[in-house]
Formats: sequence, structure tokens, C-alpha cells
Amino acid sequence: MGLFSSFREARRRRILERSPIDDELWAWAIKEHKILGRIREGSGPWPNDRARLRELATVFLAEKRFDPVDGVELDDELKVSVAAQACLPLLGLDLDWYSDWSTIIVTPREYDVRKRDVDEVGVVHEYDDEFSGEAFDLGPVALSRVDIEASGWGDGYNVVIHEMAHKLDGRDGAYDGCPPLHRDMDYGAWREAFREAYEGLRSSLERPRGKRGGASRARRGPRIDSYAAESPDEFFAVACEYFFERPATLRSEYPEVYRQLVLFFRRDPTDY
Ligand SMILES: [Zn+2]
Repeated sequence: MGLFSSFREARRRRILERSPIDDELWAWAIKEHKILGRIREGSGPWPNDRARLRELATVFLAEKRFDPVDGVELDDELKVSVAAQACLPLLGLDLDWYSDWSTIIVTPREYDVRKRDVDEVGVVHEYDDEFSGEAFDLGPVALSRVDIEASGWGDGYNVVIHEMAHKLDGRDGAYDGCPPLHRDMDYGAWREAFREAYEGLRSSLERPRGKRGGASRARRGPRIDSYAAESPDEFFAVACEYFFERPATLRSEYPEVYRQLVLFFRRDPTDY
């Protein structure tokens, strides 16, 4: 598989030749982000991934537009941080997976959004919800600067990968926790793995827990962020965060989900 699989190849080649990410800035990104630093260079099953990531991030920066709001400051470090983390899931895919959107809105911090839901009996509920990021259908991605800076440390939290996962999920027009799968993959196996994990997580959160530390403590809490229990699409997005941030945790907690993600991303982050 070539680096880029589309007609945009020539233009992208030119971008790489004329405006690669500065050496010092790239070295900073690798050093500052634990999840990037562990990609080994020159050895392992994917010896060229660091160089490939830099190329993907370079083209990403040229093709996407950053739109700062509410006075947030955008420096080169922040842009490279977003680009590198956004492109990490694309190492085994390509940039065309992000071709249906172009703008990244950056807010200073989490922001409140007025939400409006209509319940099953037709009553409208309005409420404020706090967002650290958001992916709009066929539209921009919104990310908070504070949350971008909290991402990439290898602790399981990654707002950039989370929102990119929603974008991958929605490529087929449905935000349902299932992106368009490769031809050698099996939709039935994917849905079964994710359904079982999602339902298991939800029921584990519903069960009353034993007293903390006492002999009656029946079970430990979930090892991934319980936000994953919100919906199947949030489960997928959170699973992607763990896949790249804490792969061993996801693999031991949900081995079948992990296996499907290895097939989809065509990488196994525990092998780096
Ligand atoms: Zn989400």
C-alpha cells in the first residue's frame, strides 16, 4: 500500500517536499507525547511508522484549518500535537479517512452546550452539557485546548483520538460504533465483540458494588472510562482512546474488541 491512496497524491507529495514539519518541533512532539514516543524507530513490525506519522501529520496540517474561538492561543506546538495524535490512528489507513471534513475549532477549555432532546412521550428537555470536544456530522471537529494538552500521556484519556474515532465511525453515514470495515473483516464478528463488551460494561455499572475495601466488595470497577457506557458510538470512541493510550489495559479487559481494532487499524500498539 502506498502512503496515499488517492488522486491527491501528487499535491501531497509537493506539501511533503516544500513544508515538512520542522525537525525541532517534531522532536518536541515525540518527546512530549508518551503515546508517540513509544513508536519504535527502525525496528519492530512497523519500522517506518515514526517517519510515516510525520508525513501524515505534515499533510494533515496543510489540509485542515484551525479555527480558534474565545481568544484561545494557537501555537505551532498545539497544532502539531493535534495533527500527530489525529494521524496516529491512520498509520495503517490513510488520510482519505478524514477527507469529509476540514476544520478544527479550538476552544480554550471545556464548554457548555445547550442540548435539546425530545423524550418518548414528546416532552422537550433542555439542559447544559459540558463538552471537551465534539465531532459534527460532515462538519468540523471541536477540541478544547486544556483537553488537547491532557491527551497523549498514556493514561487512557485522549480527546483528539476520541473525536477522530467518531469521524471514522461516521464515514458510512451512521454513528453507531461501527466504521466501514475493510473487505477482509467480518461485520458480524465486529458487532458481536462490541455488543458483548458494551452490554457487559453497562450491566457492571448497574450492579450495586460492595463496600470499598471490605470483604463484601464483590467486584472492581471498570478499567476503562465509564463514559463508554453512554452509547455504542461512545464505547467505540473510548475503546479507540485506550487502544492507542493504554493498549494492554484494553486488550486484557476486552480481548475481542481489541482484536477487531487491530484488524481495523492494521496495527497492534502492544507490539511497538
Ligand atoms: Zn464522544
